[in-house]
Amino acid sequence: MTEVAVRTAPAKSAKTEHFDVLIVGAGISGVGGAYHLKQQCPGKSFVVLEGLESYGGTWLMHKYPGIRSDSDLYTFGYRFKPWVGPPIATAEEILTYMGEVIDENDLAPHIRYNHKITTASWSGKDNLWTIEATDGDGVKRTFTANFLWMCQGYYRHSEGYTPQWPGMEKYKGKLIHPQTWPEDLDYKNKNVIVIGSGATAATLVPAIANDCAHVTLVQRSPTYFIPGRNENEIANMLRELEIDETWIHEIVRRKVLFDQEAFTHRAVAEPEVVKEELLAGVRAIVGPDYDMATHLTPKYRPWRQRIAFVPDGDLFQTVLSGKTSIETDEIESFTETGLQLKSGKKVDGDIIISATGFNLNVLGDIAFTIDGKPLDFASTVTYRGMMFTGIPNMVWVFGYFRASWTLRADLIGDFVCRLLNQMDKKGVKKVEVALRPEDKNMPLLSWIDPENFNPGYLMRGMHLLPKRGDKPEWQHTQDYWVEKDALPAIDLDDKAFVYK
Ligand SMILES: Cc1cc2nc3c(=O)[nH]c(=O)nc-3n(C[C@H](O)[C@H](O)[C@H](O)COP(=O)(O)OP(=O)(O)OC[C@H]3O[C@@H](n4cnc5c(N)ncnc54)[C@H](O)[C@@H]3O)c2cc1C
Repeated sequence: MTEVAVRTAPAKSAKTEHFDVLIVGAGISGVGGAYHLKQQCPGKSFVVLEGLESYGGTWLMHKYPGIRSDSDLYTFGYRFKPWVGPPIATAEEILTYMGEVIDENDLAPHIRYNHKITTASWSGKDNLWTIEATDGDGVKRTFTANFLWMCQGYYRHSEGYTPQWPGMEKYKGKLIHPQTWPEDLDYKNKNVIVIGSGATAATLVPAIANDCAHVTLVQRSPTYFIPGRNENEIANMLRELEIDETWIHEIVRRKVLFDQEAFTHRAVAEPEVVKEELLAGVRAIVGPDYDMATHLTPKYRPWRQRIAFVPDGDLFQTVLSGKTSIETDEIESFTETGLQLKSGKKVDGDIIISATGFNLNVLGDIAFTIDGKPLDFASTVTYRGMMFTGIPNMVWVFGYFRASWTLRADLIGDFVCRLLNQMDKKGVKKVEVALRPEDKNMPLLSWIDPENFNPGYLMRGMHLLPKRGDKPEWQHTQDYWVEKDALPAIDLDDKAFVYK
């Protein structure tokens, strides 16, 4: 645990406590939400309930070697707090940054750690949420709140996703998922197999390879990567000129977002050209003799899944050094000593690490009821991926996949505060979104279009997620460049908002 991870507010008595706003989760979204509330709704009382022992969410709970961001911190960092480190950051650096946000804005007294929320019940009679949480001593604590701000993240924190393969029970070595990494795992001089091809595998492999006897990366199909130096030249130059960090943050952020927008458009308009460029970046490191076609050439179009940045091409360096080899193949079964691949090849390992992704988790495993009825979340329709039909006084933070998650957490922060201030101005206690007469015949579709974005955990969990319509108001478009203007311009008097 880092030194910054011990701030906590004392839990008060076990009697019901009331707050204007209750934030679920102290990850990057929840801490950001607390900041925005304090700045933009200074009169509101609020509490952040967090199930873990400290803040950070994703960055606190992942302990595997090498854990780092895959997008740059100029945009993954908050809009309001300059990032002064290298663009790609370790979990520890992100926790330190978040700790500074908590300190500088005196947010600690608002956060209760070790408070795992189990139920949330809306009463239309009282226009109030009742939230039950279990604290670290197993004591049930009850809270009431006018407004619920869900910052619970999108995947189950207690365990990752491990597919079931034939013969898994036969394997005599250790099978590990990076999400529940044993801190005492001894991989020194061991043969290690890493299953997976995403950002986690790409981070983990170079972090352990030098200590292992050998690492074999077994992937069903390759992924796109962008290798590059973990530096931002504009930031370096502006720092040399002694420009204020606030300015540097804003300028570099704009430049990163400008470049990403151009890249996204090109990936859609000319996918083959972009694909070639991405492959050329990797080829420049691995050289002409490496079998790029088999191991490093994805089958899908760029940008259907997140593209991970690989600082200094470290993953490819370990392949070149011979410490790591890649097998692009399918797993037929586990054996006593490793894996039997479909091609007939066998790979042995003392440890198998299944870097195979997440289980989607909607609403933080909280049992929701609305006026006594269990909530069927999948049957609701989303308003811009933030609010849901039939769920009053609640906003949910679901960030971007292609751009940094936090960009949306900041935009939603502004939206929630504007909505709360609007409710006060109108003197109302309840707001709900509802389909307007012109939306009645709108087709209702799955949360996200698989043609647009299709990572495994979303495909596996789509049936749990709310519906989207075919109009921008009724979907999470995943498009930061449209939403940066559209969300601040939302007309809160639109018929989609029903106040009482
Ligand atoms: C290894 C890894 C690397 C990533 N890298 C990037 C990246 O580079 N860029 C990017 O944009 N995204 C990245 N992501 C996605 C990342 O999860 C989000 O960007 C972001 O950190 C999510 O923040 P959050 O606060 O919304 O959710 P989380 O970080 O998941 O935090 C949610 C918090 O809510 C708490 N909580 C949940 N349910 C309850 C409950 N019932 N009661 C009490 N508390 C509860 C949890 O304990 C947790 O602390 C990465 C994800 C992983 C796993």
